[in-house]
Amino acid sequence: MIGEFLRAEGIDCFGELLRRELVFSDEKRLSRLEERMGRVESAVLFLMPYFAGEAPTNLSYYARPLDYHGFVKELSERLKGYLEERGEALGFALLADTSPLQERLCAARAGLGVLGDNGLLIHPRYGSYVFIGAILLSRPIAPAPAVKEGECLRCGACARACPTAALREGKREECLSHLTQKKKRTPEEDALIRRGPYRWGCDLCQTVCPMNRKAEVTPIPYFLKDRLESLLPEHAALPEEEFACRAFSWRGREIIEKNLSVKGEET
Ligand code: SF4
Ligand code: SF4
Repeated sequence: MIGEFLRAEGIDCFGELLRRELVFSDEKRLSRLEERMGRVESAVLFLMPYFAGEAPTNLSYYARPLDYHGFVKELSERLKGYLEERGEALGFALLADTSPLQERLCAARAGLGVLGDNGLLIHPRYGSYVFIGAILLSRPIAPAPAVKEGECLRCGACARACPTAALREGKREECLSHLTQKKKRTPEEDALIRRGPYRWGCDLCQTVCPMNRKAEVTPIPYFLKDRLESLLPEHAALPEEEFACRAFSWRGREIIEKNLSVKGEET
């Protein structure tokens, strides 16, 4: 039944896990959820691909569509209505980003891809350009056997492409995705941003990955509408309603202006 719901939403990649197969990262969050929905007995992991085939610019691919948190909220409401219409008294929590699960690991266990050396989940069709969602359920479901397709090629292209020590030395605090969201940066951190093209996020370890070469365009309509091509000064001045729908809004408008004021080495 959950599968039928997801397919109707354009979500064609999902897999089930029983509780004993789930890996939790936040037991406190899990306890709070279980107070509301009952004991978690299983979960359906699903993917939300966001790639639309465009060329790289200064804005990471994940931030080009409308913020996926908006999609997840709408999806949760629709699932609630779907279950109510069918008289299903099933406790559930549909989450992404705020899930108590180790999402990448659980998604890999559910057969939704492999864990790459760039730290990301890589799906055979959508590559690493995916958001991971989970529907925690208060009832055990019969999981389909997870099919593992391929492996990270361990080619090292992601580490070579990384302009910081984030991948080679495991210094995640130097990852440009993190630094472009940081409000107070050192001159050295600004210099790391200056070296590359990105002013929000960073896709360098994804665009070079051979397993992303044939990444398919997302089949989910939400991720194809109102896309931005690049980050521009006018985006910091969007009306509140439009600004709040963007993935880069959560750190405020000033950080957008600040990032765009970092001039590239070529300028
Ligand atoms: S997102 Fe950019 S900075 Fe971060 S690990 Fe990948 S290539 Fe390195
Ligand atoms: S670039 Fe190579 S090593 Fe890195 S994640 Fe992709 S396949 Fe794996």
